[in-house]
Amino acid sequence: SITPLRAAKGGAVSILSVLKDFGNFRAVDDVSIEIRPNEFFTLLGPSGCGKTTLLRMLAGFEAPSDDKILLDGTDISMLPPNKRPINTVFQNYALFPHMTVAENIGFGLKMLGKSAAEISSSVEEMLRLVRLENAGNRSVTQLSGGQQQRIALARALAPKPKLLLLDEPLSALDLKLRKSMQIELKRLQQETEITFIFVTHDQEEALTMSDRIAVLNGGKVLQIGSAPDIYEHPADRFVAGFIGETNFLEGDLMSSADGVGTVALRCGPVVEALTAKSVASSGAVTIVVRPEHLELVAPGSPQAVDATVEQIVYFGTDTHVHARLSDGTALTIRQQNRPGPKEGIAVGRTIGVTIPPRVAQILKD
Ligand code: ATP
Repeated sequence: SITPLRAAKGGAVSILSVLKDFGNFRAVDDVSIEIRPNEFFTLLGPSGCGKTTLLRMLAGFEAPSDDKILLDGTDISMLPPNKRPINTVFQNYALFPHMTVAENIGFGLKMLGKSAAEISSSVEEMLRLVRLENAGNRSVTQLSGGQQQRIALARALAPKPKLLLLDEPLSALDLKLRKSMQIELKRLQQETEITFIFVTHDQEEALTMSDRIAVLNGGKVLQIGSAPDIYEHPADRFVAGFIGETNFLEGDLMSSADGVGTVALRCGPVVEALTAKSVASSGAVTIVVRPEHLELVAPGSPQAVDATVEQIVYFGTDTHVHARLSDGTALTIRQQNRPGPKEGIAVGRTIGVTIPPRVAQILKD
C-alpha cells in the first residue's frame, strides 16, 4: 500500500560551485554538494550562514549569482519555481486559512489541472500518510500547531515532488511536539522515498534525522558527512564546537601512524588520539574530546589531569560536571547516571580526569 505514494524515481541534486552575492556581501560562497536520491539531507549552521539562501535557490525563489544546480542531471537554475518538481514546507506552515484541510492539501494538484476524482483520492492518501484521516472537512484554523504542520507536509507531498525542501519546519513547535515530529518526518521521508533537504540551526535535530549533514558557516561548506562522521570526526574547530558539547585541549604531536597520533598535552597526560590524514606529523595541535568520553578517577592517578569541580548539572539520564584545570582550561565531563550516591563529586572538590586511548580527535588547524 506504500508503493503509490512514492515519487517518480530520481531526486539526485548536484549543487555545483554555487555563489550568491547580495551587493558586496557573499551569502553563499562556492558551495558544492551532491545529494543522493531518497536521501534525508540537512543543511546545518548558525543564523546567517546562508542555508536559507541556498534552499531558496533550490526552490527557484532566488537566482544563483553564478553556476549551476542540477536535478537528476538537468540544469534547473533558470526554471521558475512552479516549473520545478520541488515543493517547500515553511516554518510558519503558510496554510490557506479560508480553505478546509482537504482543500489545502488538494491545492497543488488543482493547480496542476488534476481531475476532482484524482484530487480526492490523493487527499485521502495524504491524510492517511500524516495520520489525520478524519480531518479533511475541518477548517485549518481549528487545528493545533502540530496538526497544521502535518497538513502543510501533506500539501507539499501531494503532487509527489522529486524534492521536498523544509525550512526550519519544526521551530515553531514546543519541545515535546518537536521531538515527535522529528520521528514523524523521518518516517514520511522513508515511506515516500522523496529526497528531503532540511534546513536547521539545531544540531540535535540534524543528528537525529539526517542520512547526511552539510555544516555551513559564513556561506561555506565546512564538512559533509553522516551524523556519526560529523560528531565523532569533526573536520575543524568550528564543526566540533557547533555539533554537541566538546572539550578542546592543546598539546604537541610526538608521532603518528595509521590514523593514530601520540599527543603530549600541555596539562600533563600523554594521549593516543585519532588523526585525519592531513594532519602534520609533529608540532602544536588541538585535540577535541567529547564530555561522555572523559573518565573520572582519583586525583593524582597516573595519566590523569587534576581539576576542580565548579558546577554539577543533573539531567536525569546523565550528569554534567564542569571543572577547571590549574591552567584555567574548562573541562566538561558527562557521566551516565546510575542509582545511588555520586561519590567524590562536589563543587570545590579536586577530581582526576583521564582520556581513554583513541577517543579524542586531533584537529587540523
Ligand atoms: P537564518 O537561520 O537566520 O535564516 P540563514 O543561515 O538561513 O540564517 P540566510 O537567510 O541564508 O542565512 O542569509 C545569509 C546572509 O545573507 C545573511 O547575512 C543575510 O543577512 C544575507 N541576506 C539574505 N537575504 C538577503 C537579501 N535579500 N539582501 C541582502 N542580504 C541578504
